[in-house]
Amino acid sequence: MGSVDERIDAIGRQRFRARFHLRGRDRATAILRGPSRIRAHAHDLVAARLAAAHPRNDGKQTPYRGHPVFVAQHATGTCCRSCLQRNHGIAPGAALTPEQQDYVVDVICRWIEREVQT
Ligand SMILES: [Zn+2]
Repeated sequence: MGSVDERIDAIGRQRFRARFHLRGRDRATAILRGPSRIRAHAHDLVAARLAAAHPRNDGKQTPYRGHPVFVAQHATGTCCRSCLQRNHGIAPGAALTPEQQDYVVDVICRWIEREVQT
């Protein structure tokens, strides 16, 4: 597994993933809140919606807008457990370890950081 940037680049070459960008209110939220608060939100959202062995509404738990973390999850294939498996090799059916949660948060936050810079 390469660096987080290499992962994001590879996933961004999928046509579906490449469509996602931070725009409008979601972009403004990312800039306004700043990286450390966005990271805290990402931690909370991943823990609440993705980390369980069998997350509620898995496959449909991540809205397409309304928070920069949600957009980042679709862009990086961290929106549900099957996308997590396909894009990051994390098997479904078991709760995410703290290390796996940190990895997912790193991917989400790095994508947001890159979006805000462009
Ligand atoms: Zn998904």
